Amino acid sequence: MSEIAKNVREIREKIREAALGAGRDPDSVRLLAVTKTVSPETIKEAFEAGQTLFGENYVQEALPKIDAIPRAEWHMIGHLQSNKAKYVVGTFSMVHTVDRPSLAAELSRLCIARGIKLPVLLQANLSGEASKGGADAEGIIAIAKRALEWPGIEIQGLMAIPPYEEDPEMSRPHFRALRLLANRIDSVGFSGVKMYHLSMGMSHDFKAAIEEGATMVRVGSALFGQRL
Ligand SMILES: *Cc1c(COP(=O)(O)O)cnc(C)c1O
Repeated sequence: MSEIAKNVREIREKIREAALGAGRDPDSVRLLAVTKTVSPETIKEAFEAGQTLFGENYVQEALPKIDAIPRAEWHMIGHLQSNKAKYVVGTFSMVHTVDRPSLAAELSRLCIARGIKLPVLLQANLSGEASKGGADAEGIIAIAKRALEWPGIEIQGLMAIPPYEEDPEMSRPHFRALRLLANRIDSVGFSGVKMYHLSMGMSHDFKAAIEEGATMVRVGSALFGQRL
């Protein structure tokens, strides 16, 4: 078995254990393999090992990989400039990083023109880190409130990249805050908004994220090795 196939199997097993340990259905957590800087050949190894969901940060870097492995499911997980939205619609099956009304509007416009509906997540930045994208809680709610203005997209949950912490326990309050925000949005019940997904947790802290309710964990280096 290749190194990559072994990693896929090991991470899947850890996800399963974390879910069961938290009293959750293991099938309620999906592994999203993050492929930034990873070659199409290596991604193919993961695909052949049964990994079907992949995420990319940069549109330009993603397009040749999507062409090389078209049967996989691809999600956009990086910051998205509105002028790049046209490359995303029709190529990615979900965008995790909608953090402003202007981007929601642009994605919706492009989707309507193509006759498709694009599932999206709202990217939250609850710790106020200036270097990262994402809206604060009030900003997220303001977008959710306006969902019906953008019929080309469907808001299906929240995503976050909390500040890096060596100790995953330090990330736990951030994961919990994201879940509580999703619960709050669900309980208000904005039309056109469903909180099905929480995209949170990376290589070193996905266990804590799953314990706090993650439905998609975004794992890169633990699958493909350290990025240079
Ligand atoms: C790179 C990246 C990941 C994966 O990080 P690892 O620590 O390598 O698992 C997850 N989410 C986003 C948005 C990323 O950019």
